[in-house]
Amino acid sequence: MSARTTRFLASLVLILATVAQAGTPVDNARIWPATDHTRLVLETGDSVEHRLFALESPRRLVIDVEQADLETNLGTLNLDDTPIRQIRTGRRQNGDLRVVLDMKEDVEPRSFLLRPNEQYGHRLVVDLMDLDNTRDQEQKAVLEDQSESKRRDVIVVVDAGHGGEDPGAIGPSGTQEKEVTMALSQRMVERIDAMEGFQAYLTRKDDYYIGLRKRTEIARDYNADLFVSVHADAFRSPQPRGASVYALSTDGASSETARWLAESENSADLIGGVGGVSLKDKDEMLAGVLLDLSMTASIEYSMGVGSNVLDQLDSVGKLHKSSVEQAGFAVLKSPDIPSILVEAGFISNPTDEQKLTRAGHQKRIVDAMVDGIDRHFRSSPPPGTLIAHRQRNGGEEREYEIRRGDTLSAIARRNQVSVQKLKTVNDLNGETLHIGEVISIPSS
Ligand SMILES: [Zn+2]
Repeated sequence: MSARTTRFLASLVLILATVAQAGTPVDNARIWPATDHTRLVLETGDSVEHRLFALESPRRLVIDVEQADLETNLGTLNLDDTPIRQIRTGRRQNGDLRVVLDMKEDVEPRSFLLRPNEQYGHRLVVDLMDLDNTRDQEQKAVLEDQSESKRRDVIVVVDAGHGGEDPGAIGPSGTQEKEVTMALSQRMVERIDAMEGFQAYLTRKDDYYIGLRKRTEIARDYNADLFVSVHADAFRSPQPRGASVYALSTDGASSETARWLAESENSADLIGGVGGVSLKDKDEMLAGVLLDLSMTASIEYSMGVGSNVLDQLDSVGKLHKSSVEQAGFAVLKSPDIPSILVEAGFISNPTDEQKLTRAGHQKRIVDAMVDGIDRHFRSSPPPGTLIAHRQRNGGEEREYEIRRGDTLSAIARRNQVSVQKLKTVNDLNGETLHIGEVISIPSS
């Protein structure tokens, strides 16, 4: 072997060693605080292997990313509203990147990889699930509040489609579906809350992702009378435009578009699932079977709400389809809650895309959806609600606080209603009244 060859081989070894040392770049990071978890996302140049484990005193989570180079500054991430106190990083001797999260609170961590989508490349996701769930507490407060008042509100849970790492469809000018769905959903909740006898809640309040099953779970936790999932369509070609309304179907999609859409919307569920490790998923199978058995009951009701909403949307602009379509969206598979999915327009159509970002158009769409919902619940109000009660009594009713000396017959006479009607409306058995008690006076 000549000296020259030796020198050549030596430099080749050196080059190979350098190549081997250069790890997968971790070149961007984001943090998404949500109501019940915090999501840390590391963008990686390629698919990576990783390990996640917890250490005690002080409590910290360690993420080892095999053969990776940190090419971004994790120190600039905003850790407000997260359970993380600080993030430290280091390089291990074996070439792994170590990310240490110093924690303020205990969390249930899980991690998984996401494959590239339209917006992002390979990602390593670490979800820090809250142990004491603030949303649960909020819901408990809502339920307690409901049990105190005799005539409950109609509860509508509005679901802004997509969010966080899942942008949904992206329009020709770059509008992200998740932004449109959030804007529409927030407006909707505001409008519904302003109506007497209605109360609305969002499944997500900010830009973060929640799994599809989780969204209907939230609706169930709120005891929702209606679940509305808001989306904006996309199709392979730019021509289709206009709004559509979908209700759940047990036999899958009723048209080719519906089938294609159900497939692409449902594929978003993979976001929370690819390689995700969660102890809570064990009963998924059983839950799925029970779900399928019990969901048939609400389909008819869903179709009813759907056609009311569609009728109203018809006045806003061209509809994509003039009847309620049926598709097997995972997000609609809620056992006992009537559910609809509204595609507010086609984000893949340049005209629709522009309209969907305009405040004036958003307002018109929301007004139409809310009017449809209002009409539906006025024609078939759920039992126990203020709306049902008002209807049964054929109009307005007033509240009256019992004073000293009041008798049922005196109150009945003053208000020109029968004693029997007062008793029925207020579920009273005897004639006994309590000072300070508030009763309803039906219109005469
Ligand atoms: Zn969507």
